[in-house]
Amino acid sequence: MITAERKSFDQIKESIKEFESLLVLGCGTCVSVCMAGGEKEVGLLASELRIKNRLDGRDVRIGEATIQRQCDQEFIGPILETARKYDAVLSMACGAGVQLVAEMLAPMRVIPALNTRFIGITQEEGVWVERCRACGNCVLADYGGICPITMCAKSLVNGPCGGSKGGKCEASNEKDCAWVLIYNRLKKQNRLENIFKMFMPKDYSTQAHPAQMVNEAYLKVGVEEKHGK
Ligand code: SF4
Ligand code: SF4
Repeated sequence: MITAERKSFDQIKESIKEFESLLVLGCGTCVSVCMAGGEKEVGLLASELRIKNRLDGRDVRIGEATIQRQCDQEFIGPILETARKYDAVLSMACGAGVQLVAEMLAPMRVIPALNTRFIGITQEEGVWVERCRACGNCVLADYGGICPITMCAKSLVNGPCGGSKGGKCEASNEKDCAWVLIYNRLKKQNRLENIFKMFMPKDYSTQAHPAQMVNEAYLKVGVEEKHGK
């Protein structure tokens, strides 16, 4: 999932201070799982803003809504009419969601309430860790299912840097050395010979931004023309 965390209340307050009405818009997918921007967090932030405005003697109309995904037009469409009744939207989605909502509501202002962090997993309740940098050319099969690009502080693909101590990374002794993890995993899989393989420098041409992905099987007439088919 894409992980994100809420900006500080002071930052949020500063970014919306000019508006007299505001829709706090949550997203029910990734940011809901990492407890940053789902329905519950929308309720909490909206309440905090209402209390603060009351204490400051400001009369600001704060609305709340959460849609299933802010990165998908079909879920944003039904909320457009409601959103336009406000001066601005305070989006609690990841950066992709904020941008699509802003595009569909333009020129209305859409303000981000979260900082988008990384693609990761839930390690334990309340702890999320990065696992993938979306490199576009997945090499997990060669490394026992452990990503050297993400898990190694130096993204080394041909063995460790030599700085690891006690199984920990030299960049941070709180983090496991990715290459110790890879070694142990390959050993358990009886595939240690993989450690001695030389891998070519990783092809980062897939990292050109902004990236695009097209699934031809789903292209419709008209969309095909748009993509030059
Ligand atoms: S190699 Fe690593 S960064 Fe690339 S797609 Fe696979 S898990 Fe993600
Ligand atoms: S100690 Fe291990 S994880 Fe850290 S940079 Fe070196 S090889 Fe990568």
